[in-house]
Formats: sequence, C-alpha cells, structure tokens
Amino acid sequence: MPLAPNTLPPDDPAALDLTPATMQAMGEAVVARAVAHLAALASAPSRGDLVAEERCRALRETVPEEGSALEPLLDLLFDDLIPRSFGTPGPGYLAYIPGGGIYPAALADYIADTTNRFTGIWAAAPALVQLEANALDWLREWMQFHATARGVFTTGGSMATFNAILCARERHLGPEIRRGTLYTSSQAHHSVEKSAKLAGIAHDRVRAIPVDAQFRMRVDALEAAIAADRAQGLTPFCIASTAGTTNTGAVDPLDAIADVAAREGLWHHVDGAYGACFHLVPSLRPLLAGLPRADSLTLDPHKGLFLPYGTGALLVRDGEALRAVHASTAGYLPENQSEFYDPAQYGPDLSRGFPGLRVWLTLKLFGAARYRAALAEKRTLAQWAAEQVAAIPGVVLDAPPQLSLFAFHMAGATRAAENAATRALIERVTARGKVMLTGCTVDDRVLARLCVLSFRTRRAQVETAVQHLREECASLHRAPAP
Ligand SMILES: *Cc1c(COP(=O)(O)O)cnc(C)c1O
Repeated sequence: MPLAPNTLPPDDPAALDLTPATMQAMGEAVVARAVAHLAALASAPSRGDLVAEERCRALRETVPEEGSALEPLLDLLFDDLIPRSFGTPGPGYLAYIPGGGIYPAALADYIADTTNRFTGIWAAAPALVQLEANALDWLREWMQFHATARGVFTTGGSMATFNAILCARERHLGPEIRRGTLYTSSQAHHSVEKSAKLAGIAHDRVRAIPVDAQFRMRVDALEAAIAADRAQGLTPFCIASTAGTTNTGAVDPLDAIADVAAREGLWHHVDGAYGACFHLVPSLRPLLAGLPRADSLTLDPHKGLFLPYGTGALLVRDGEALRAVHASTAGYLPENQSEFYDPAQYGPDLSRGFPGLRVWLTLKLFGAARYRAALAEKRTLAQWAAEQVAAIPGVVLDAPPQLSLFAFHMAGATRAAENAATRALIERVTARGKVMLTGCTVDDRVLARLCVLSFRTRRAQVETAVQHLREECASLHRAPAP
C-alpha cells in the first residue's frame, strides 16, 4: 500500500518526526525493494543502459515545496535510475577493481544512521568507538603490523593515501615542502599523484619510476632517481609503491623497496587498495612479501572486504606519526585522552558517519574464515580464467594474475589493429550482458583486463566470461574490427 504524503501531521507544519508505525512501514517498503533488487542481480545486465543524457536533463528540478509519497520515489529509484549504471554489485562485474555491497553493512549503516551517535570523539560514544578500534585492529593484525600501529577509516583509498603522504611529509620534510620528492611507479593509481598535490607536493616533485616486464616498479631505476634528486639538492622523502596495480594487478617488489627506503631514510607507503586484502589469506602472503614492513598502507575495504563504497582505511606503522598530523584540541571539546582510540585524533574528520560499524558488524556476523575462503576462491578463479584465456587462439596474455586480475590483448598485424580488436573484444563481451569487462592503456597498447573480486562472482560467471571471450575472439577473427 503506498505511503501517503500525509505521513507527517498536517496540523503541525514544523513537525518532522514520524510515528513508530510509519517508520516501520517505510522501512519495510525500502527493505522489500532492496532485497528484490539484490535477488534479481544475477539476471540483470552486467552493464545497464548508460545512454542517459535526456533522462538526466529531465531529472533537473527545483526543490519541492511539498513532500511526496515514498512509493513513487522508490519506483523512480529502483525501476528507472538504479538500472542505468554499471552493474557494480552484480556477479558478472569483472571490470576495474570490483567493489562489494555486502548486505550486513547496509544494516550497520541503518543502525548508525538512525541512532546517529557521535563517533568522532571517544568521549561521546566510548563503547561504540571501541568497536571501530577493534575493526581497525583486525585489519592491523591481518596486515601483520605491530600493535603500536594506528589507523583510520576513510571514505576510500584515495583519502587513505592522501593522509599517508601527509604523515610522510610531516615526518621527513616539516615545513620544507618544496624540496621534497616522491617516487611511485608509472603504473601507480592516479590517486597517488592527486594525493601528493593535495599534500602540497607539486607535479614536478613526483617521479614516475619505470616498470619491468611484469609492470612492477624497477628498483634500480628507483635508486637512480633518488640519487639524481639528491645530486640536485632535493630531498627525497617518500616512496609510494603498489600492492596490486589497477591496470594489470602488478605487485611492486615491496621487500626490495622497503630495503631502499630503510637505506635512504625515506617513508615507504604501500597502496594496497586492491591487493592488500589478499594478505588475509596466510597461504597468499608470499605474493605480498614485504607488505608488513611498510610505514603506511592503504586498504580499501570497499573492494577486498566486499563492503559498500565509502569504506577505505589507512594503517600507519608508527601510530604517533598519524596522530602528529591530526591531533588537535579546542576549548569546546573534551580533553584528549590517549588510552583509547579517538578517531578525530587520527584523521581529518570531526563529525562523521560510523564506518567502523559496517566493518565490525559484517565481520562479527560472517567471521574471518569465510573471508579467507572467499578471497582464496577469487584468486583461484582468476588463475583458472587466465589459463583458459591464454589458450584462446589470437590472444596474448600480457600479465598473468599476480593476485586476481590479469590483462591480455588480441594479436594482429599492427599495433593499431591489435588495439582496435582488443577494444572490440571488450565491448562485444560486455554487450552480451552477462559479464562486464574494461580495458586500460599501457604505453600505446590497449589491454583487456579481467578482475575477480566481487563476493558474488563464483565459478559460473567466470566460466561464462571465458566462453564469451572465446566466442567473440573467434567472431572477431572471422570479421575483424574496423
Ligand atoms: C581503487 C584504487 C585506488 C583508489 O581508491 P578509491 O577507494 O577509489 O579512492 C587507489 N589505488 C588502487 C591500486 C586502487 O585499485
């Protein structure tokens, strides 16, 4: 039954609180839609209809003076707007780095949003903030960081890296920002350069170190770049390496880079937004050797822990370095204490949502063992798919899966023909609607890539992906891309 607009008392124009019965009915209406949506994900197109210019123009409107009923708004969202998007939560989403959207996190958000407790400072909700501290501590243990490490939940990996570079800058440069140089690989995520800029490190002080044949940062080139900058009178201060690049899933030689950082006295940040989650699985830890030696680590629970978007995390080996950047006080706030984790002392936000509850509730409900099994499965599926794809005639595997992502291209007579065929392959497979793939450009080569990280992606979707790649490759050979 549609909820009428008069769910608020008509005779009391300033009232905004709903009756318990109305809240219950509205909540049930939303849950019913959301659950039906999730139940239909497997049959929904892996990439929705994105031709939306007209629709977007038509959606522009001025603020409504009067309220409307809930049901028509849910119709608009679920039937019209939500389907016009990448199928990010769907099982066939093998594009970019897949995200999550695991259900208990939405329940945690509902609890956090309705109870609306203030979790920016420990004193305002100590027991709740302790749950967030626990969740961060679980991440810390998984990453094998020492107990003196501290962290903060952020809105995503980009903000985690930004805060890491701030720590490095404060620790190694102080106010002498302009002389500082930062090193990352040519394959690093663009958020490293963006974070550097936000932290006051300009483009001309960021070095993109070349990579080896497996797309990993070349340590010899890193050392040479550091030496060249020192010879110029500059102050190298930070290396930002990557544990799982977005293009090809490459893991930089973290151990060797940690050695360079130690020898040169530099901060070593590891961007593990994609790859760090595999450190949960003890048998996969050798793939990320050296990761626990990082000075700071970006994690993205909204990727590898399957949480909804808006959940990033930063760990800093020396928790005092993170606190030094953010600790502050004011006459209107309770005094800082140091025994218990106090989010505002470790991150830029004061008032904020309660990201820790999403992580805490989900892990309490499902347990770590299930996470390890799921992550191990994603890697096994990617390895299997890579073997199958490499065996397709006319396909060249450029980057076998170091974790759960691999990249490949179609062979052809010229680079231009190869690129056109690879682009056509990605588009044709995606247009079939069962799986969504995206590509990337490395130097002048277009690569197709397949990343298995959605918790909903199981064997069946990966088999479909392989089958559709095989069929579309064959068809492209018969009728090449223009
Ligand atoms: C996704 C990703 C980022 C950016 O993280 P956001 O959560 O999108 O801000 C950074 N680095 C890598 C390797 C990534 O995969």
